[in-house]
Amino acid sequence: MVAENYREVEARVAAACERCGRRREAVTLIAVSKTKPVDMIRELIEIGVKDFGENKPQELKSKTEEIVEPLHWHLIGNLQTNKVKYVVGRACLIHSVSSLHLAEAIQKEAEKKALTCQILVEVNIAGEETKSGIAKEDAAQLIRQMAEFPNLKICGLMAIAPPVEDPEENRVHFRAMRKLKEEIAALDIPGVSMEELSMGMTGDFEVAIEEGATMVRVGTAIFGHREVR
Ligand SMILES: *Cc1c(COP(=O)(O)O)cnc(C)c1O
Repeated sequence: MVAENYREVEARVAAACERCGRRREAVTLIAVSKTKPVDMIRELIEIGVKDFGENKPQELKSKTEEIVEPLHWHLIGNLQTNKVKYVVGRACLIHSVSSLHLAEAIQKEAEKKALTCQILVEVNIAGEETKSGIAKEDAAQLIRQMAEFPNLKICGLMAIAPPVEDPEENRVHFRAMRKLKEEIAALDIPGVSMEELSMGMTGDFEVAIEEGATMVRVGTAIFGHREVR
């Protein structure tokens, strides 16, 4: 079931790439497995899926302890400084860094473990009060400061677009993210690469791909609905 859903989403990702003249390899499909059991994840591992997204540090920790295959685990959810230890060294990429304080905590943990931690900077693209992420206007300045941390590698930007009925409503936000990514890339901040743009979820990933997403985070369309928790 889950494998079948994944194949359908994969086909839609491929079709979206085709429509806008992008190579399929330019977009990573992340299967967002939060709240879902390891059995379901295993179904996808069997068909060769490598990229999984979790939003809770402890859940990421326990799942990576249970599943020993080499996979790419993405932390996509809010991260508190006291949970950084569960994530650094386990996640291939932390998508949700939006304060210097958190970046500093990640730096310390990465230094302690003698590794480099890859991160994305989360932007609150629609200026929603309830959403995490840094304001668009402040992103470049924050990235300049974070770039000073030797054990962090800033790889790009991430955004969570508002929930909408019609995915076309988010096109404007995705386009603004693409523009912001290009503006920051043009600053040529040493040690900063602006290659990745993580945006697009079940409701709007095709539009996100058309607007330049390099990573889409898809949960519901692959794993089905989640219990609210
Ligand atoms: C849960 C979650 C997703 C996946 O959402 P779906 O609508 O189920 O595809 C993507 N990104 C983040 C940050 C999430 O927390």
